[in-house]
Amino acid sequence: MRFKTRLKVDLNILAENYQKIRGLAPNSDVLFVIKSNAYGLGMVPIVRYACNQLDIDSFGCASLGEAVFIRNSLTDLQFDLYVLSDLDLEMNGGIDYYLSKRLIPVISSLQKLEWILGNRECQHLPLCLKMDTGMNRLGIKAGDIAAAIALLKQKGRKEIYHMMSHFACSSQLINLADDTNQSTRQFSLFQKIKSDFRAAGINIERSSMANSGAIEQGVALREETHIRPGLLMYGLSALDATTREACGHWSGKNVSSLETNVIDFYPVKRGDCIGYGGATCPSNGTLVYIALGYGDGILNQYHKMCLRYKEHDGNIVGRISMDMSALLFPMESQKEFKIGDKLVLWDHSPSSLQEMAEKHGVIPYEILCNISDRVPRVYV
Ligand SMILES: *Cc1c(COP(=O)(O)O)cnc(C)c1O
Repeated sequence: MRFKTRLKVDLNILAENYQKIRGLAPNSDVLFVIKSNAYGLGMVPIVRYACNQLDIDSFGCASLGEAVFIRNSLTDLQFDLYVLSDLDLEMNGGIDYYLSKRLIPVISSLQKLEWILGNRECQHLPLCLKMDTGMNRLGIKAGDIAAAIALLKQKGRKEIYHMMSHFACSSQLINLADDTNQSTRQFSLFQKIKSDFRAAGINIERSSMANSGAIEQGVALREETHIRPGLLMYGLSALDATTREACGHWSGKNVSSLETNVIDFYPVKRGDCIGYGGATCPSNGTLVYIALGYGDGILNQYHKMCLRYKEHDGNIVGRISMDMSALLFPMESQKEFKIGDKLVLWDHSPSSLQEMAEKHGVIPYEILCNISDRVPRVYV
């Protein structure tokens, strides 16, 4: 655990982002995706706030373990909780969790659907089906739709609580007029699948398709009851740089900001050996150690990181250690540093985290999810 090094999480910004998303999709309800510890921001406080202050009533996590943890931590609140991918249905006692904790398993194959419908205990579970419209990740395959419909009819099930599908390429430009576009194909197939179910007399109460990239591009909003934003709620655009320039108008802010502090600094000379492996110091300057390393989720992959301090830029030099990293600042900056001075890796303007990700060939999701438990989340 650390004190001054911390991930600041501004819940007012979360509220602003939510209002902006409502502005983009005024007729959609939100299923807020909070997997991977709410993209690193802390599931329990995020869900509590979203439920109490924003009136969001549906949340999606990835695993049964995450879902049980949220339910047990927030027993006073009422909300739908979906388990999106790692269901552990067949695990001994797995199904009991779904029933006793009122969790909704997202059924994503014909085999799982057969299992659920063949299990008497599951007859009161709301049916949530995920369809694979061409991403080839999880989802009932197009070739299995007829069998799924037949099975539902055979079991007398006429209600689907929620039907979803997931876009593979919504970070790239979506052009619904172009039927060779991957997202267009997925979108059209999903409309057809829904109408096949309805034609067979099966009602679909809710449906959703849009993740953040699709919401930003205004796709699959009116045709479905729900949208499923993750990254956008936390304040970052999910569009790639080209698409963002072409059609991005996301004006939300990054909910989180990562702060650390100086734990030591001193002058070094060009050619000095620095840290593990003895990297060669590229120039004379002030070496500044900050209290963040790969144990905190600042991976060696981020070796091009550059931090600003009072008009001076410092670049990572040498290997990132488990507990700290070294930055080389200009010589003349030395008089300005003090032990304990604050340095900011990213602030609430979305561009700072976005730029860090782009520079290192990663996505903002990865950077956020990697920030480890050692960094306290401080909520404001
Ligand atoms: C993660 C996830 C989302 C949210 O994706 P973003 O790109 O963060 O908006 C939506 N739906 C499902 C099924 C997911 O797994």
